[in-house]
Amino acid sequence: MTDIVVLGSTNMDLVAYVEKAPQRGETVTGREFRTVPGGKGANQAIAAARAGATVSMIGAVGNDAFGSRLRATLEHSGVNTDHLRTTEGPSGTAHIVVDAEGGNSIVVVPGANATVDRVLPRDEGCIASADSLLLQLETPLSAVLAGARTARAHGVRTILTPAPAQPLPPELLAATDLLVPNEHEAAALTGLTDPREAAAALLERVPEVVVTLGAAGSLYAARGAEPLTVPAPRVTAVDSTGAGDTFVGALAVALGEARPVREALSWAATAAALSVQRAGASASMPYRPEIEAGYA
Ligand code: ATP
Repeated sequence: MTDIVVLGSTNMDLVAYVEKAPQRGETVTGREFRTVPGGKGANQAIAAARAGATVSMIGAVGNDAFGSRLRATLEHSGVNTDHLRTTEGPSGTAHIVVDAEGGNSIVVVPGANATVDRVLPRDEGCIASADSLLLQLETPLSAVLAGARTARAHGVRTILTPAPAQPLPPELLAATDLLVPNEHEAAALTGLTDPREAAAALLERVPEVVVTLGAAGSLYAARGAEPLTVPAPRVTAVDSTGAGDTFVGALAVALGEARPVREALSWAATAAALSVQRAGASASMPYRPEIEAGYA
């Protein structure tokens, strides 16, 4: 089995559904409220575990009720949480207001995620023995960089999702094997709105890039090779939240199984297409038998 380590965030999403979002100083009555486990790190860990990998999560939750639920959610999908610390104080939360048109405004309070600012000696062994390390940018950059360097030192593949978009230190890119931005992140990183041009520019900084293109699939580019476009299955999307994380988790599993790149991308697209047909982020992520059945 592919052995994957995820270093990243866990958040509880607190979602209020309203007719119209409140203006400053205004109070509105909402229609519905939901708490949904999330965070890009946890989402990618769940996606990879369900896709058939052995997965460990490095990160932190708070010592509040959200923390217990976030840990339990990971464990329920088979993610090893021995390296998920419980810290004094609140868990990470995302406060989301969704209006009747589906538009949203979000406040993220990092909480325990902010304490993940380095890689502990006990985490190093976990990273060193993995096939891939998955990283995103919802925990302090110092830990993301330390994780990438540890992985690099041990020949472990590093896969970075550059979200939320922000300038990336050259040292981090130097320790990244595969960068997986969506179109907007690729444009933010390069100033180029054409995904092919953005991917070509990113290849000057990392050896391999996958730009995800939503319903249009993905674009793979590697140094010295022709770019490859892999379509996404045509489906009726209900909720695309977490599609990118499902794609990355499944892609890491397929690459860990040494599948050829086109096949790995297509397999990841199958997993992501299954997830967009159901509501929820991690709740909608498919298990391996479903992906295999959809891919066949
Ligand atoms: P999100 O933020 O919603 O998690 P993202 O913006 O990071 O997603 P996208 O490029 O929108 O990433 O989607 C990632 C992958 O999910 C795509 O490459 C594609 O394979 C799949 N996907 C997304 N939307 C659809 C869709 N409507 N139909 C089929 N597949 C989709």
